[in-house]
Amino acid sequence: MALDRNLKMGMVGGGPGAFIGDVHRKASRMDGGVQLVAGAFDIDPKKSKQMGKELLLDPKRVYGTYKDMIEGELKLPEGERIDFVSITTPNNWHFPIAKAFLEAGFHVMCEKPMTFNVKEAKELKQIVKKSKKVFGLMHNYTGYPMVKLARDMVRGGELGNIRKIVVQYPQGWLATALEKAGSMQASWRTDPKQSGGAGCIGDIGTHAENLAEYITGLKITKLCADLSIFVKGRKLDDDGNILLRFNNGASGVLHASQVSIGEENNLAIWIYGEKKGLEWHQEHPNYLYVKEPNGPVQVWRRGNDYVGAKSAAAGRATRLPFGHPEAFFEAFANNYCNFTDTVRASITKKKPDPLFLDFPNVDDGLRGMLFIETVLESTKSKQKWTKFHK
Ligand code: NAD
Repeated sequence: MALDRNLKMGMVGGGPGAFIGDVHRKASRMDGGVQLVAGAFDIDPKKSKQMGKELLLDPKRVYGTYKDMIEGELKLPEGERIDFVSITTPNNWHFPIAKAFLEAGFHVMCEKPMTFNVKEAKELKQIVKKSKKVFGLMHNYTGYPMVKLARDMVRGGELGNIRKIVVQYPQGWLATALEKAGSMQASWRTDPKQSGGAGCIGDIGTHAENLAEYITGLKITKLCADLSIFVKGRKLDDDGNILLRFNNGASGVLHASQVSIGEENNLAIWIYGEKKGLEWHQEHPNYLYVKEPNGPVQVWRRGNDYVGAKSAAAGRATRLPFGHPEAFFEAFANNYCNFTDTVRASITKKKPDPLFLDFPNVDDGLRGMLFIETVLESTKSKQKWTKFHK
């Protein structure tokens, strides 16, 4: 039987002035069937209460800490207590919070990078397995319909054997020491105690790595990284250039930067096979460009029947007809849609449709953490190539 009630969502993080928690709140309810009922929204309990008030939540379910939230929710009967929690705090908190909620029997949607280090990521993988709960990771760029179309084209063999992958994520917003000017988002991202061993590479390089592996189904096997810190006094990388090799022999280039002045969120990918190439840009996400030798460039446009006919996942990830742009919120909502349908299947003890399982999970999170660790080792190494860590 289908679940005959809303899924109940809790949130940790996303307090007043926070960025991504609010995106989660909006995206998770885009398709209905999900209701935010509880939260520990801020590191400061007073601000958590303030946020709960703004969100018109029952004050009894707005908690000072995530531990109080687990204790309080467990006192409520099943069906009334939260079904899942979304973790939208800085990186250092992801692991302890995810662990605590999974062990208390809740499903978890977590922000990236998944944990603070590889050790935690490996442990979390075991915890997820043991808990039998659903774990989603918010690599939101996999949620775009045209990314899903690209994946189905590449994995369906249309491009032929993949030879080369170029992926980039340049931003310019950290080109000055914003962390010293009171920016909440800049301050924890540039602090090794909250961000982890990497800055830019952990924050956005992992999105690029995840996108390349998601579309191609290939795995990075070795890399050669050159990270830099350009802003004086900063402790973590704010720019990185990385050569890649994949498990089928394909070569690749990944660059990410937060000091590329003038760039906003210029995530883009180019994939070249033996027969065709393709190109996708996050800032113009409704178009996928397919290129053949000796022919005009094809522009595949979201919302057309021919897209859904080629890729069921892209069709499912589309809400509006062609020409009405869909973008960041919708891609987030697509990951939520698949995650929450999988949670519903788990609650009703049904096997989830394979299409539902198309959202990043704990294995992707571990790949991301291994990527960061390998990049950090490579940048210190004098050798050309460093093997991707296991
Ligand atoms: P932010 O600084 O805007 O917000 C962080 C919020 O977490 C704040 O409200 C803070 O008070 C709260 N917080 C911190 N520790 C807490 C704790 N122990 N308990 C409860 N609340 C706590 O940060 P942000 O930019 O929203 O980033 C948050 C996370 O989301 C990071 O892990 C980041 O990497 C990730 N992120 C992902 C995307 C994406 O596109 N997927 C985009 C931005 C950020």
